[in-house]
Amino acid sequence: MKNLRYIPAIDRLQQCEAFLEIEKQSELARSVLTQKLQEVVNDLRESYLRGKQKLDLTKEKELHHYIFTELEAKVFASERKNELQPVINATGVVLHTNLGRARLSNDALDHLVQTAKSYSTLEYNLEAGERGSRHDIVEKYLTQLTGAEAAIVVNNNAAAVYFVLKALAEEKEVIVSRGELVEIGGSFRISEIMELSNAHLVEVGTTNKTKVADYKNAITEETGMILKVHKSNFALVGFTEEVATESLVKLAQEKDIPLYEDLGSGTLFDFKQEKIGQEPTVQEQVKKGIDLISFSGDKLLGGPQAGIIVGKKSYIDRLKQHQLARVLRVDKFTLASLEATLKSYMREQVKEIPTIRDILMPIDSIKEKADKFTASLREQSDHVTYVVKKDFSMVGGGTMPEVKLPTYIVEVTHRHQTSEQIARYLRKLETPIIVRIKNEKIQLDFRTVTEEELELVMKTFEEL
Ligand SMILES: *Cc1c(COP(=O)(O)O)cnc(C)c1O
Repeated sequence: MKNLRYIPAIDRLQQCEAFLEIEKQSELARSVLTQKLQEVVNDLRESYLRGKQKLDLTKEKELHHYIFTELEAKVFASERKNELQPVINATGVVLHTNLGRARLSNDALDHLVQTAKSYSTLEYNLEAGERGSRHDIVEKYLTQLTGAEAAIVVNNNAAAVYFVLKALAEEKEVIVSRGELVEIGGSFRISEIMELSNAHLVEVGTTNKTKVADYKNAITEETGMILKVHKSNFALVGFTEEVATESLVKLAQEKDIPLYEDLGSGTLFDFKQEKIGQEPTVQEQVKKGIDLISFSGDKLLGGPQAGIIVGKKSYIDRLKQHQLARVLRVDKFTLASLEATLKSYMREQVKEIPTIRDILMPIDSIKEKADKFTASLREQSDHVTYVVKKDFSMVGGGTMPEVKLPTYIVEVTHRHQTSEQIARYLRKLETPIIVRIKNEKIQLDFRTVTEEELELVMKTFEEL
């Protein structure tokens, strides 16, 4: 291994024309570039030691060429690639939490970009020519769409839950059914949010059964709120009993205690009418007389990440005046994309919203995409087999967990490659493709793949 001594020292390499050229073009700080150079040299040494490097180290010119080509690749590849990368979601899971949940509509994107590019009326009242409030931007859409008296938007629904508890029930008792003390996505537990907000949890009933008398008996002088948590990410089946919202509303009104429902996904579109799931709409819940309701902006609503709180004006006003409203406030990008999304609902053009469009996608269109994909590829190679078959897609995002949306998938098997190897290859593409793997097979569900993306997926598999 005495050849290793031919590898030049870092400070020698730094004096080379090639190094200075890369430094100039990349505009990277010398320390950063040197770090990368060191990595290249270390890798070279390592691969040489493992007998993987055939390069003749005694030939200086070749050696330099190798080192600087590697350095260049390293510098410019990482410059091109963002940490936050767009991917193609071929899992069929519409609200894939790890892949960023809802995709925005074209209108939402346009409004977002316009707002980002220019100054805006974020907190400016054009009529009066003076300071306005960002709370006013989407409030009227939300009240019109849900029938609620007032609304406020915060960073996300977890923040909304915290905010409502902190602002309206701090140091007071909050009654919750044991069947609803849920954990969402591993990091959001109602009981912990409650503790953080300094509201005191009073659990009533049992995991599977809670009666209205349980709530009634728990009400004391100290009671500040009744909380209902919508079972959005799990289903309780079998011998169960849950108090009808109407009875809780009646009880809360009799005792003059606010009733708050964390609706989780919260939909403005009635999926029940399309025979998909049992999600109550936000407007149905408002109509029942619940005082406050909160839900996510980027789940079934199909907008940006946000926590939307709608309800009685007196409570919303208290939220608006609370210091936390400033802490949890949303930015102009959220407001712009949320406004455009809500306008699609106002115009009753819900299919403009990708989340809704994808959940409602007719099975025939999915099959069409699957057939188009396989037709273009079947003759390509005898190493790869493609089978179109019936299956189901999930809504995802902890939403409507019991709903199975009928779909067609394409199952891909390769004679010489494991599905893991193919999946890894697909993840490393310039536009990574995320797939499901089941029974050692790659499964592509085109429900969540647009026509444009499909072209790219087809091209990728042609080269497989
Ligand atoms: C998803 C969910 C939340 C958290 O909402 P985020 O917008 O993700 O913060 C809270 N409560 C319920 C019931 C949920 O389903």
